Amino acid sequence: MRLYRLRNVSPSSYSWELRTEHQWLLPGVHCPTCDDIWSGIGEAYPAVDLSGLPDARKFRARVEEDFEEFTRLRELVRPLVPKGVPLEPGTTFGALVGRGHGQFPQLVFPAPWTLLVRREALERLQAEGLRGLNGCRTELRFKQKDPPELLELQIEPRGLLHRDCLPRGLPAPCETCGGPGFSLPAEPILDAASLPDDRDLFRLANYQTVIVGTERFAETVRRLGFEEVKFSELPTR
Ligand SMILES: [Zn+2]
Repeated sequence: MRLYRLRNVSPSSYSWELRTEHQWLLPGVHCPTCDDIWSGIGEAYPAVDLSGLPDARKFRARVEEDFEEFTRLRELVRPLVPKGVPLEPGTTFGALVGRGHGQFPQLVFPAPWTLLVRREALERLQAEGLRGLNGCRTELRFKQKDPPELLELQIEPRGLLHRDCLPRGLPAPCETCGGPGFSLPAEPILDAASLPDDRDLFRLANYQTVIVGTERFAETVRRLGFEEVKFSELPTR
Protein backbone atom coordinates (compact mmCIF):
# COMPACT_ATOMS: atom_id res chain seq x y z
CA MET A 1 0.00 0.00 0.00
CA ARG A 2 1.42 3.36 -1.02
CA LEU A 3 1.21 6.23 1.46
CA TYR A 4 0.88 9.94 0.84
CA ARG A 5 1.44 13.09 2.81
CA LEU A 6 -1.59 15.40 2.70
CA ARG A 7 -1.12 19.14 2.41
CA ASN A 8 -3.22 22.13 1.54
CA VAL A 9 -2.97 23.58 -1.93
CA SER A 10 -1.42 27.03 -1.83
CA PRO A 11 -2.52 29.47 -3.05
CA SER A 12 -6.10 28.29 -2.68
CA SER A 13 -8.51 28.83 -5.53
CA TYR A 14 -11.25 29.31 -2.94
CA SER A 15 -11.62 32.43 -0.88
CA TRP A 16 -12.16 31.70 2.80
CA GLU A 17 -10.94 32.65 6.22
CA LEU A 18 -11.10 30.82 9.55
CA ARG A 19 -9.87 31.99 12.95
CA THR A 20 -9.98 29.06 15.31
CA GLU A 21 -8.67 27.48 18.48
CA HIS A 22 -9.48 24.31 20.38
CA GLN A 23 -11.43 24.45 23.62
CA TRP A 24 -8.63 23.05 25.80
CA LEU A 25 -4.95 22.27 25.64
CA LEU A 26 -2.37 20.45 27.69
CA PRO A 27 0.00 23.29 28.64
CA GLY A 28 3.54 23.60 27.36
CA VAL A 29 6.33 22.69 29.77
CA HIS A 30 9.35 24.31 31.39
CA CYS A 31 11.54 21.27 31.85
CA PRO A 32 13.41 21.04 35.19
CA THR A 33 16.07 18.78 33.59
CA CYS A 34 16.96 20.46 30.28
CA ASP A 35 15.47 23.91 31.09
CA ASP A 36 13.76 23.99 27.71
CA ILE A 37 10.35 25.67 27.45
CA TRP A 38 8.36 24.03 24.72
CA SER A 39 5.08 22.89 23.34
CA GLY A 40 4.39 20.50 20.46
CA ILE A 41 2.18 21.20 17.47
CA GLY A 42 -0.35 18.98 15.79
CA GLU A 43 -1.53 16.46 18.36
CA ALA A 44 -5.28 17.01 18.74
CA TYR A 45 -8.27 15.06 20.06
CA PRO A 46 -11.35 17.02 19.02
CA ALA A 47 -13.60 14.13 20.14
CA VAL A 48 -12.33 14.40 23.73
CA ASP A 49 -14.44 16.55 26.03
CA LEU A 50 -12.68 17.82 29.16
CA SER A 51 -15.67 19.68 30.57
CA GLY A 52 -16.23 16.92 33.16
CA LEU A 53 -12.76 17.32 34.70
CA PRO A 54 -12.65 19.31 37.96
CA ASP A 55 -9.49 21.05 36.69
CA ALA A 56 -10.76 21.83 33.19
CA ARG A 57 -9.80 25.51 33.56
CA LYS A 58 -6.14 24.46 33.95
CA PHE A 59 -6.25 23.22 30.36
CA ARG A 60 -6.14 26.77 29.04
CA ALA A 61 -2.64 27.84 30.14
CA ARG A 62 0.07 28.13 27.48
CA VAL A 63 2.83 26.91 29.81
CA GLU A 64 2.81 25.10 33.16
CA GLU A 65 6.00 26.02 35.06
CA ASP A 66 5.61 23.16 37.56
CA PHE A 67 6.55 19.94 35.77
CA GLU A 68 4.90 17.74 38.41
CA GLU A 69 1.67 19.61 37.88
CA PHE A 70 2.03 19.16 34.12
CA THR A 71 2.43 15.41 34.68
CA ARG A 72 -0.64 15.34 36.91
CA LEU A 73 -2.71 17.12 34.25
CA ARG A 74 -1.47 14.74 31.58
CA GLU A 75 -2.47 11.71 33.67
CA LEU A 76 -5.94 13.23 34.19
CA VAL A 77 -6.60 13.18 30.45
CA ARG A 78 -4.87 9.89 29.63
CA PRO A 79 -7.95 7.74 30.31
CA LEU A 80 -9.93 9.93 27.88
CA VAL A 81 -7.66 9.62 24.81
CA PRO A 82 -6.91 6.61 22.59
CA LYS A 83 -4.50 4.12 24.15
CA GLY A 84 -0.77 4.57 23.62
CA VAL A 85 -0.74 8.10 22.18
CA PRO A 86 2.10 10.49 23.10
CA LEU A 87 0.16 13.37 24.77
CA GLU A 88 2.84 15.95 24.06
CA PRO A 89 2.83 19.34 25.78
CA GLY A 90 0.50 21.51 23.70
CA THR A 91 -1.90 18.67 22.78
CA THR A 92 -5.37 20.11 22.17
CA PHE A 93 -8.82 18.76 23.04
CA GLY A 94 -12.44 19.47 22.34
CA ALA A 95 -14.28 21.30 19.63
CA LEU A 96 -12.61 23.77 17.33
CA VAL A 97 -14.12 27.14 18.20
CA GLY A 98 -14.02 30.24 16.06
CA ARG A 99 -15.35 32.35 13.25
CA GLY A 100 -15.11 32.18 9.52
CA HIS A 101 -16.46 33.32 6.22
CA GLY A 102 -16.11 32.59 2.53
CA GLN A 103 -16.43 29.72 0.09
CA PHE A 104 -15.04 26.42 1.38
CA PRO A 105 -13.92 23.33 -0.53
CA GLN A 106 -14.94 19.86 0.73
CA LEU A 107 -11.70 19.47 2.66
CA VAL A 108 -10.26 22.45 4.52
CA PHE A 109 -6.95 22.92 6.30
CA PRO A 110 -7.26 25.79 8.81
CA ALA A 111 -3.66 24.84 9.71
CA PRO A 112 -1.41 22.36 7.87
CA TRP A 113 -1.91 19.84 10.73
CA THR A 114 -5.70 20.26 11.11
CA LEU A 115 -8.20 18.86 8.60
CA LEU A 116 -11.85 19.83 8.41
CA VAL A 117 -14.40 18.21 6.17
CA ARG A 118 -17.90 19.18 5.12
CA ARG A 119 -20.44 16.79 6.58
CA GLU A 120 -21.72 15.67 3.16
CA ALA A 121 -18.16 15.05 1.96
CA LEU A 122 -17.39 12.94 5.04
CA GLU A 123 -20.47 10.84 4.39
CA ARG A 124 -19.32 10.23 0.83
CA LEU A 125 -15.82 9.23 1.95
CA GLN A 126 -17.26 6.83 4.53
CA ALA A 127 -19.69 5.40 1.96
CA GLU A 128 -16.66 4.63 -0.22
CA GLY A 129 -15.37 2.42 2.60
CA LEU A 130 -12.57 4.59 3.97
CA ARG A 131 -11.77 3.50 7.50
CA GLY A 132 -11.11 5.41 10.70
CA LEU A 133 -12.59 8.78 9.72
CA ASN A 134 -13.88 10.30 12.94
CA GLY A 135 -15.68 13.58 12.20
CA CYS A 136 -16.05 15.74 15.29
CA ARG A 137 -18.41 18.64 15.75
CA THR A 138 -16.98 22.15 15.67
CA GLU A 139 -18.26 25.41 17.08
CA LEU A 140 -17.60 27.69 14.14
CA ARG A 141 -19.71 30.73 13.42
CA PHE A 142 -20.10 32.09 9.92
CA LYS A 143 -21.22 35.53 8.81
CA GLN A 144 -23.10 34.30 5.75
CA LYS A 145 -26.25 32.63 4.53
CA ASP A 146 -26.08 28.84 4.16
CA PRO A 147 -22.98 28.38 6.31
CA PRO A 148 -21.08 25.13 5.69
CA GLU A 149 -21.18 22.39 8.31
CA LEU A 150 -17.52 21.66 8.91
CA LEU A 151 -16.40 18.73 11.06
CA GLU A 152 -12.86 18.23 12.30
CA LEU A 153 -11.29 14.84 11.67
CA GLN A 154 -9.65 13.36 14.74
CA ILE A 155 -6.39 12.17 13.21
CA GLU A 156 -4.52 9.96 15.64
CA PRO A 157 -0.74 9.61 15.88
CA ARG A 158 -0.01 6.07 14.64
CA GLY A 159 3.10 5.84 12.44
CA LEU A 160 6.73 6.95 12.73
CA LEU A 161 9.40 8.55 10.60
CA HIS A 162 12.12 5.98 9.96
CA ARG A 163 15.32 6.70 11.85
CA ASP A 164 17.31 6.50 8.60
CA CYS A 165 15.78 9.82 7.49
CA LEU A 166 16.44 11.67 10.74
CA PRO A 167 19.38 14.08 10.99
CA ARG A 168 22.62 12.35 11.99
CA GLY A 169 23.98 13.07 15.46
CA LEU A 170 20.58 13.98 16.81
CA PRO A 171 20.90 14.31 20.61
CA ALA A 172 18.98 11.74 22.64
CA PRO A 173 15.60 13.10 23.76
CA CYS A 174 15.51 14.57 27.26
CA GLU A 175 14.54 11.82 29.73
CA THR A 176 12.13 14.12 31.51
CA CYS A 177 10.28 16.01 28.79
CA GLY A 178 11.12 14.16 25.55
CA GLY A 179 12.45 17.34 23.90
CA PRO A 180 14.00 18.89 21.92
CA GLY A 181 12.32 18.34 18.60
CA PHE A 182 14.00 18.32 15.19
CA SER A 183 13.24 19.74 11.76
CA LEU A 184 11.30 17.61 9.34
CA PRO A 185 13.81 15.93 7.00
CA ALA A 186 13.67 17.14 3.39
CA GLU A 187 13.02 13.55 2.30
CA PRO A 188 10.93 11.85 4.97
CA ILE A 189 10.78 8.03 5.04
CA LEU A 190 8.12 6.12 6.96
CA ASP A 191 9.00 3.23 9.25
CA ALA A 192 7.00 0.39 7.71
CA ALA A 193 6.84 -1.60 10.94
CA SER A 194 5.18 1.30 12.76
CA LEU A 195 2.35 1.90 10.31
CA PRO A 196 -1.27 1.15 11.24
CA ASP A 197 -3.35 -1.24 9.11
CA ASP A 198 -6.75 -0.41 10.56
CA ARG A 199 -7.28 3.11 9.14
CA ASP A 200 -6.82 5.23 6.03
CA LEU A 201 -5.71 8.45 7.72
CA PHE A 202 -3.28 9.14 10.57
CA ARG A 203 -0.54 11.50 11.66
CA LEU A 204 3.05 10.63 12.55
CA ALA A 205 3.60 10.05 16.26
CA ASN A 206 7.14 11.46 16.09
CA TYR A 207 6.22 14.34 13.78
CA GLN A 208 2.63 15.20 14.43
CA THR A 209 2.20 17.99 11.91
CA VAL A 210 2.52 15.39 9.12
CA ILE A 211 -0.83 13.91 8.06
CA VAL A 212 -0.65 10.67 6.07
CA GLY A 213 -3.31 9.00 3.95
CA THR A 214 -3.35 5.61 2.32
CA GLU A 215 -3.42 5.11 -1.43
CA ARG A 216 -7.09 4.26 -1.03
CA PHE A 217 -7.70 7.61 0.69
CA ALA A 218 -5.84 9.55 -2.03
CA GLU A 219 -7.59 7.71 -4.86
CA THR A 220 -11.02 8.19 -3.32
CA VAL A 221 -10.49 11.93 -2.81
CA ARG A 222 -9.33 12.30 -6.41
CA ARG A 223 -12.17 10.20 -7.80
CA LEU A 224 -14.79 12.18 -5.91
CA GLY A 225 -13.26 15.36 -7.29
CA PHE A 226 -12.51 16.91 -3.91
CA GLU A 227 -10.15 19.81 -4.41
CA GLU A 228 -7.48 21.67 -2.46
CA VAL A 229 -5.54 18.66 -1.16
CA LYS A 230 -2.06 17.91 -2.44
CA PHE A 231 -0.80 14.34 -2.11
CA SER A 232 2.92 13.54 -2.15
CA GLU A 233 4.07 9.97 -1.87
CA LEU A 234 6.17 9.02 1.16
CA PRO A 235 8.57 6.10 0.79
CA THR A 236 8.57 3.40 3.46
CA ARG A 237 11.42 1.23 4.73
ZN1 LIG B 1 13.64 18.29 29.19
